[in-house]
Amino acid sequence: MKAEHYVGGAFRSDGPSFALIDPRDGSERGVVPEATREIVDEAVTAARSALRGAWGAADAARRATALRRIADGIEARFDAFVDAEVADTGKPRELAATVDVPRAIGNFRAYADLLYGRPERAYTTSVPGWSGGAGEALNYTVRRPLGVVAIISPWNLPLLLLTWKVAPALAAGNAVVAKPSEETPSTATLLAHVIDAAGLPSGAFNLVHGHGADAAGAFLTGHPGVDAIAFTGESATGAAIMRNAADHVTPVSFELGGKNPAIVFADADLEAALDGTVRSSFTHSGQICLCTERVYVERPVFDDFVRELGKRAGGLAGYGPMISAEHRDKVLSYYRLAEEEGAAFVAGGGVPEFGDERDGGFYVEPTVITGLPESARTVKEEVFGPICHVAPFDTEDEALGLANDSPYGLASALWTRDLSRAHRVAPRVETGIVWVNCWNLRDLRTPFGGVKASGIGREGGEYSLDFFSEPVNVCIQI
Ligand code: NAD
Repeated sequence: MKAEHYVGGAFRSDGPSFALIDPRDGSERGVVPEATREIVDEAVTAARSALRGAWGAADAARRATALRRIADGIEARFDAFVDAEVADTGKPRELAATVDVPRAIGNFRAYADLLYGRPERAYTTSVPGWSGGAGEALNYTVRRPLGVVAIISPWNLPLLLLTWKVAPALAAGNAVVAKPSEETPSTATLLAHVIDAAGLPSGAFNLVHGHGADAAGAFLTGHPGVDAIAFTGESATGAAIMRNAADHVTPVSFELGGKNPAIVFADADLEAALDGTVRSSFTHSGQICLCTERVYVERPVFDDFVRELGKRAGGLAGYGPMISAEHRDKVLSYYRLAEEEGAAFVAGGGVPEFGDERDGGFYVEPTVITGLPESARTVKEEVFGPICHVAPFDTEDEALGLANDSPYGLASALWTRDLSRAHRVAPRVETGIVWVNCWNLRDLRTPFGGVKASGIGREGGEYSLDFFSEPVNVCIQI
């Protein structure tokens, strides 16, 4: 797989480059071009030209057709997308084939459909007379695109999260300059080929590769020609992007980090809660923003739950690596910190030995710990790896207090058979998403996003289209 920039309808890979490392065995598997400030500038200029030309003139029907063609194009190259995603991230093939790539197709189809369902509003007004403006009027509100949109995505669900923004941005009529994570350039490059073949006017979608800080990411988010920024990644990166964008007062939509809690009440279906917690803590080796890193269990079932969770975590097989040596080291540093902070290890805590080429890769063991105070850094900070801390609680209020005592607020899971309790507790958990007796069950129309340090704004359905467009009110005296 050769990573390429796609600027103004042309593929290129000139300029500096860096090595692409296979996280499954540590080998070098290619090179990635690093976009210079000039290349980023060309991409923004190409996007602006597209808005002034054919893409700006494309009506909703034409845009919906383009989105459907892109979805069909990904579907036609399904296996190539799966291969590329697996090679870049090391994630289990089944995950890429059942989640990442189908969701990317779904993202384009969903926004092609939603585009037509968008109501535009009209109000008739009869104002008795103030400021000399008395009279009957018809107000109507139309939505116009924001313009050139910068989209920056992370490495954990590379294609899914990139298309989750690209699809609504294009649906709303914007021109896009996207920068995927430097760790995962391959599916984004394939997507550019699909978009090229779908016949979008040149410049409607542009792709630049490269690093973030002091590099392509910063050149893009600080560019005066960018009208809005949609970013998914770490909270600290979000803060850096905001500072960079502040001079131009560029609007932002941020999906950031989390330290997601699960609350397991003693009345829960414990089998389901255990299965759900194994999935929520260890899917993609904990490298999903929605993964659970804090589990609070009602005291009467605490010991049994911890023992069984440890057994299941210890028995996991076929899991993927951390994305990079650097991230593996970060996760392991939290395993050592947990030890220093006094944690009891119920499962994992180290590096697995496979006796094959995976020993050169970036694997860590699925890990379950207990016994830490809430003030411990391991309980407070996002690790973004396969680790969860389990702590007991006695009352509903205590559980809520523990769950909410976090700088983050992305997602939570409640496990209970008591319907009244579920309704009572769910709205009081300070997260943007609350799952009850499930985890990561997603309807693409629902609002997705976090509170506190976990983000700004919501994505999904109408919410994304709202962000990627501007309402303009027209008032006509009649
Ligand atoms: P990251 O913040 O390190 O990088 C994300 C992207 O930002 C990359 O493309 C990177 O090159 C770019 N970037 C880095 N510094 C930049 C800068 N100064 N200016 C502009 N761009 C910059 O995140 P990551 O390590 O790729 O992903 C993991 C993080 O993402 C975790 O914190 C996770 O919780 C979060 N995440 C959140 C969601 C969500 O929906 N809330 C989803 C997935 C991941």
